[in-house]
Amino acid sequence: MCAALAARRGKRVAVLERTSKVGKKILMSGGGRCNFTNMYTEPDNYISANPHFCKSALSRYTPWDFIGLVCQYDIPYHEKKLGQLFCDNSAKDILDMLLAECAQFGVDVHTYCEIHSLQENNGFRIDSNRGTYCAEAVVIATGGLSIPTMGVTPYGYEVAVQFGLSVLPTRAGLVPFVFTDAIKTLCNELSGVSLDTLTSNQQAAFRENILFTHRGLSGPAILQISSYWLQGETVDINLLPDESADDWLTQYKISDPKSLLKTVLGQRLPKKLVAELEKQWWPQDARKPLAEFSNQQLLQIQKQLQGWALKPAGTEGYRTAEVTLGGVDTDELSSKSMESKNKSGLYFIGEVVDVTGHLGGFNFQWAWASAYAAAMDL
Ligand SMILES: Cc1cc2nc3c(=O)[nH]c(=O)nc-3n(C[C@H](O)[C@H](O)[C@H](O)COP(=O)(O)OP(=O)(O)OC[C@H]3O[C@@H](n4cnc5c(N)ncnc54)[C@H](O)[C@@H]3O)c2cc1C
Repeated sequence: MCAALAARRGKRVAVLERTSKVGKKILMSGGGRCNFTNMYTEPDNYISANPHFCKSALSRYTPWDFIGLVCQYDIPYHEKKLGQLFCDNSAKDILDMLLAECAQFGVDVHTYCEIHSLQENNGFRIDSNRGTYCAEAVVIATGGLSIPTMGVTPYGYEVAVQFGLSVLPTRAGLVPFVFTDAIKTLCNELSGVSLDTLTSNQQAAFRENILFTHRGLSGPAILQISSYWLQGETVDINLLPDESADDWLTQYKISDPKSLLKTVLGQRLPKKLVAELEKQWWPQDARKPLAEFSNQQLLQIQKQLQGWALKPAGTEGYRTAEVTLGGVDTDELSSKSMESKNKSGLYFIGEVVDVTGHLGGFNFQWAWASAYAAAMDL
């Protein structure tokens, strides 16, 4: 994106790509259909040590700018939900569009390029297995550390350190949770079950589905909250987010006194889930009619259903994470241009920077917007 925009402005640009192909993450994104932006992009959709940093770039290159480009290429797309725009056909449409823009303005794309060193030398000098490049400016767009099999490297962070920029600790974001205790058994039993929840912790709350897996929990609500989660913390899951009455469960005792608790809950939650919760929460009372439950016990179960506090053992890590939190400290960069404040001509854009989007097309929108900010300054 940055290469195409800079070349359009008349710059001579080379893209140096280590793997066989540029844009591999575009191809695998959004289940192969690339959730390329979100119509409701706001700075609040990003996590960063400096929440203000992303504002300038996001306001100068909006989702509508990118949608304009997509329309120019007649790429069919649709809104899946919550402003999330996906290709109708394939993520390849987005990659082909960016490559066509690069080709049109004469960008040289060099794949299989192993960079050996980057030095200041009247501008910059890059030594690689494909020869030496000299450039007035270098834009680092090496992404994050997720999906190691994609050939990711920490090189962008290393360049930052080499030039004296600080890098904030990195960790996996938008990633499923794993469990080791009784919850692991429960999740395994329920693997494939998904339901609408309000999933929260002290910093954030997401009204979305959770999905039980063989190893733990996934689904959009879990991926979202994982970006706000630190090892050792608990996550609260409200399994009945639309229920606001204080005593809805004790009401059933009056209306359905002869029913089993499992039966009434099964009207509102997946039956398999209720069966597993019964094993853990009221095993002794499984065959008892509601009339024989004390109000206190029902209130306790209701509280657990609406604030199920779970302590993940960890996350699946970079192996399956969609993004990397942390990265090049935004204090080191100009929010207008993404240029290093202390090293002129050195730029950092995209995921390598400490700006991480929520799930839903926000990470690509940051990649496009930060690329635009840098390209306009080159
Ligand atoms: C499975 C999956 C699905 C996703 N789906 C979505 C989605 O639908 N919507 C969304 O908004 N976001 C999605 N994301 C996140 C999104 O893909 C990234 O945030 C985005 O690609 C970041 O763009 P980038 O240009 O900063 O880095 P990347 O796209 O990761 O590109 C970095 C490039 O740098 C190259 N590189 C790395 N190190 C070196 C080196 N040493 N020398 C030369 N080249 C190097 C890499 O090979 C790669 O081509 C998804 C991520 C994953 C893993």
